[in-house]
Amino acid sequence: MLNKFFGHFSKDIGIDLGTANTLVYVKGRGIVINEPSVVAINQKTGQILAIGTEAKKMVGRTPGHIVAIRPLVDGVISDFEVTEQMLKYFIDKVHKESSSLIPRPRVVIGIPSQITEVEKRAVEEAAKNAGAREVYLVEEPMAAAIGSRMPIHDAVGNLVVDIGGGTTDIAIISLGGVVVAKNLKVAGDRLNQDIIRYAREEYKLLIGEKAAEDIKITVGSAYPQEETLRTAMRGRDLISGLPKEIVVTDEEIRKALSHSISSLVSAVKNAVEAAPPELVSDLLKNGIILTGGGSLLRGLDKRIEEETKIPVRVAEDSLASVVIGTGIILENIDESADVLVSTQ
Ligand code: ADP
Ligand code: MG
Repeated sequence: MLNKFFGHFSKDIGIDLGTANTLVYVKGRGIVINEPSVVAINQKTGQILAIGTEAKKMVGRTPGHIVAIRPLVDGVISDFEVTEQMLKYFIDKVHKESSSLIPRPRVVIGIPSQITEVEKRAVEEAAKNAGAREVYLVEEPMAAAIGSRMPIHDAVGNLVVDIGGGTTDIAIISLGGVVVAKNLKVAGDRLNQDIIRYAREEYKLLIGEKAAEDIKITVGSAYPQEETLRTAMRGRDLISGLPKEIVVTDEEIRKALSHSISSLVSAVKNAVEAAPPELVSDLLKNGIILTGGGSLLRGLDKRIEEETKIPVRVAEDSLASVVIGTGIILENIDESADVLVSTQ
């Protein structure tokens, strides 16, 4: 009863704890925070120097004793204490604007599907320490499917592929539950690494992670393009040690990414093959939804469509699907028990 009363006034929030980006949704207001999941730490003192956008600016530019880390890099929580601090920072950022009379928020958190029971309880604990009144966890692919408005409660198969920074989650969902789940570490970060390797092997050029990501976004693709795309690749010549600039085309970058893209496409095919036949016929009708930042790679939809023979669509707001999903769950929390993760 009291909880219902509080619920009316508190700023309930939904969080997408992504490997690359953390987004926060506030009930009644929408998405209020969208920042990189990065924390800068002074290794000498253990002190946290910056979180989010500020910390990402420091990546690759820090003196030796300052490290910018991504606490969730492979879809598992590599550094728990830091994850807790990051979560606390984002919850505080929303909560501190409100007066202390406003009750503490209920929080729905999208968590990587691969994390362990211990890590789940730890996320819950962290959110409580950060001021949450109640904490609900949902696996990211489920939240992504809800956020992309898939009819996940119906008795039909829904295939969602969430391509993030550290991991790609593939899930077939029906009647509010996951029927088939696959998870692989081939996602946005791996594509950046592919470009870094290509630059080194083809051009003896050393480029940074940020430069690689920019190249991927400007000319990267998974399917031949109608017109040639070109961009500059800037870095350090490994032989002379001096700065060097080279122009690369979409075709070259496609070649650099091809191995990873093939593994990604195979994983989607494997998920389809693992699905019960009734669900496969639903997929043919309803199609596959791609979400997460990696789904924005040019032609990835077309490539997956061609290889699976199933229609593919990119979610409307693909970088925000998970957090939108947590928002929809918040609005319907009493009917959402089936999609939530139990930590009992
Ligand atoms: P996570 O859920 O793991 O935090 P996101 O869904 O936020 O990840 O996606 C981040 C990834 O998406 C990064 O690897 C980023 O490089 C990639 N990305 C963002 N925009 C594009 C784009 N236009 N083309 C290709 N990749 C993109
Ligand atoms: Mg994500």
